[in-house]
Amino acid sequence: MAGASSADTITIALSKGRIFDETLPLLAAAGIVPSEDPEASRKLIIGTNRADARIIIVRASDVPTYVQYGAADLGVAGKDVLLEHGGDGLYQPLDLEIARCRMVAAARRGFDWSGTVQRGARIRIATKYVKTAREHFAAKGMHVDLIKLYGSMELAPLAGLADAIVDLVSSGNTLKANDLVVVEDIAPISARLIVNPASLKLKRDAVQPLLDALAAAVTARRVPTEVAS
Ligand code: ATP
Ligand code: MG
Repeated sequence: MAGASSADTITIALSKGRIFDETLPLLAAAGIVPSEDPEASRKLIIGTNRADARIIIVRASDVPTYVQYGAADLGVAGKDVLLEHGGDGLYQPLDLEIARCRMVAAARRGFDWSGTVQRGARIRIATKYVKTAREHFAAKGMHVDLIKLYGSMELAPLAGLADAIVDLVSSGNTLKANDLVVVEDIAPISARLIVNPASLKLKRDAVQPLLDALAAAVTARRVPTEVAS
């Protein structure tokens, strides 16, 4: 296996920012503490308090690729990234219930979304999530032209590039600030633990306790009202 994480080390792939920050407390509860802050050190391979565990820092959308090919044994990736990747060659045992948001379609306020859909007219949609958007609209029998973007999706309708976007929202403030309104809910999003299936078999003694500890940490982190409801 090219570039595979070595037999006596567990390699965990994380992306900087939200995923790293929100995964940190869960890892700590599982007994793994990074030796450095990736923002401060700019290092891409980070040791931990455990000699047999290290963290690699990759782009959010690259996490599934590192785990799929065994360069990382496990990783944390948003459901959005996993939908777009397809999940091939990945075991997805645990919803970490962090980095929660929604994937939606949003259009400029005043754009007649339902009328355009009813007429069966083509709608131009700009998004980073081309595959997920194509599947979503195809399942609804809608005619859409997809335009691939790599960021700042909310600009596209304002600049006249597209009628609508497919993007992630949490508070809705960014949409509002750009005069966009949600026209369709596509999927609830949160970050998932992903595991290389061969690692789970070959490194079971190290990997399985970590999965169990992370699952316990997720449960412990739930607020009591959520458990009760
Ligand atoms: P890059 O900066 O490398 O292009 P990115 O913008 O996807 O990657 P982040 O913004 O850190 O990187 O997002 C990482 C993950 O966090 C996303 O894949 C998604 O699952 C989740 N996420 C993104 N936006 C939000 C949000 N507003 N609220 C909660 N979670 C979010
Ligand atoms: Mg981002």
